[in-house]
Amino acid sequence: MTNNNKDETIFDKILKQEIPADVVFENDEVLAFKDINPQAPIHVLFIPKIRIKTINDIQDKQAELIGKLFLAVRDYAASINEDEKGYRIVINCNKNGGQDVYHLHLHFLAGKRLRWHPG
Ligand code: AMP
Repeated sequence: MTNNNKDETIFDKILKQEIPADVVFENDEVLAFKDINPQAPIHVLFIPKIRIKTINDIQDKQAELIGKLFLAVRDYAASINEDEKGYRIVINCNKNGGQDVYHLHLHFLAGKRLRWHPG
């Protein structure tokens, strides 16, 4: 993991198990845990275990890792039987996107018919 403490976020603390999280999925490269302030009946955050600040900071060589985030979503959705019912993935980027935590994360929202569109 990148270890530049200046840029450390709350998600690094979760990765280091310094603060608790309700982990629902984990593999070598990806961690997923319940959002502390859920916006849907099921609201899970998928993060890479290495710190990437925003979508803008993804490096070409990390394309496989980004793919693995989506494969983790696919497997998790199936494991909780929400794959066929459907779900939404949201990635906020920077200020206008509403990003608060500068560690790339996919919001997985499910468990009800979601309306469109964001305000
Ligand atoms: P974003 O606004 O896209 O950066 O989303 C950050 C998300 O992290 C928000 O939905 C928060 O509710 C969530 N969050 C912040 N702190 C925690 C935490 N300690 N455990 C779980 N989720 C958190």
